[in-house]
Amino acid sequence: MLNLRQKEVIKRAHELNVRFVRLQFTDILGNFKNLAITINQLERAFEEGILFDGSSIQGFTRIHESDMYLRPDPDTFTIFPWRPKEGGAVARLICDIYTPQGEPFVGCPRYILRRVLAEAEAMGYSLYVGPEPEFFLFETDERGRPRKETIDTGSYFDLSPLDRGEDARRDIVIVLEEMGIQVESSHHEVAPGQHEIDLHFADGLRAADNFMTFKLVTKVMAKKHGLHATFMPKPIFGENGSGLHLHQSLYQNEVNIFADPDDEKGLSALARHYIAGLLHHAPALCALGNPIVNSYKRLVPGYEAPVDITWSDRDRSTLVRIPAAGGQSTRVEFRSPDPAANPYLIIAATLKAGLNGIQKRMSPGEPIQESAYELSPEERQKLGIRNLPGSLREALDCLADDPVMREMLGEHTYDHYMKAKLIEWEVYRTQVHQWEIEQYLGNI
Ligand code: GLU
Ligand code: MG
Repeated sequence: MLNLRQKEVIKRAHELNVRFVRLQFTDILGNFKNLAITINQLERAFEEGILFDGSSIQGFTRIHESDMYLRPDPDTFTIFPWRPKEGGAVARLICDIYTPQGEPFVGCPRYILRRVLAEAEAMGYSLYVGPEPEFFLFETDERGRPRKETIDTGSYFDLSPLDRGEDARRDIVIVLEEMGIQVESSHHEVAPGQHEIDLHFADGLRAADNFMTFKLVTKVMAKKHGLHATFMPKPIFGENGSGLHLHQSLYQNEVNIFADPDDEKGLSALARHYIAGLLHHAPALCALGNPIVNSYKRLVPGYEAPVDITWSDRDRSTLVRIPAAGGQSTRVEFRSPDPAANPYLIIAATLKAGLNGIQKRMSPGEPIQESAYELSPEERQKLGIRNLPGSLREALDCLADDPVMREMLGEHTYDHYMKAKLIEWEVYRTQVHQWEIEQYLGNI
């Protein structure tokens, strides 16, 4: 039996003359995948789910237990505005993955996030997240492949003609809004060819869905402008990298419980415990929020990305920052993640870290007052400041040592994730890089 919401979606799809429905899901490593069905299969998709072979999807299942079901979430229905409408429009639905036994699949990142959100719910909290993704636009060659030149030499908040990305950015924002995703603002970022589009805050699950959709739309729109959009965290040596800052707050009965007007910084005790949880689990969080070898080229001093495990109510070099907006807009900004991250896993992991901080009543200590980059090793030691991991390998070791984060992922996902990432690290580690040739070949 179809429920009311599912029936509404089917009706809406017919009204919009939908012919194809893309069933989308995200694999463990954060890749967006899809399978197209025709409109006449939509009812069956809602009723029974659509069978697919999970064994070919990164980190999903072993070959002998490969059958999986995609179950579309009716709340994610939207049209792809850039696809042709003649002959029938294209809609999409984001799916949860189920086993043939009708159980949620433990390797489905959306399920992992749902699980932690339910844990928060049981404690009386709802999570809201505002993602701030940054990305680069590069030139393409005659075959549409990315070239090494960025499309402009603009910098922070520049206007056209220095900002050559404004038309692509405009189209990205328009399409996102047509798809029901609210955008707060957009601008040229500090590095040449670098841009940022801030998504309006949404509940944890919706924020992760929106980020996946944002990435897809950005790639598609860039291509329409003859450009290549990349979410690689540090594409250019010596320039700022791209972050995915996550603004987070907990609500209870529609009231922001991170806010406390009587506190000198406007922060509740609960918000401080949450921050402490983020700081405590920060090294393991990097394994999920900074998931690729290149992520660690961004987490270096001097480029507005965090290096140390610190918090502050002003400085942008700290891991957690409290933006000036107070009252109902009080939130913590977690600044280490980058846009290569799987948003379901990093949002689940940060929430779990925060909840653990609340349960154990952890204290974040005092916020630091000066730029974290300027602290000497002695000052660091005096203040008990720890560093973020310096490489993917270090971060993976930190994840292995963090039982709370491992349990949050579950054994299946932890094992598959670790295996894939350790291979990635090993392949990288054994390469001979251009820098080594230049540094050593002639001199040693
Ligand atoms: N691009 C910087 C980063 O890597 C952040 C710049 C900003 O504060 O917006 O996180
Ligand atoms: Mg920015």
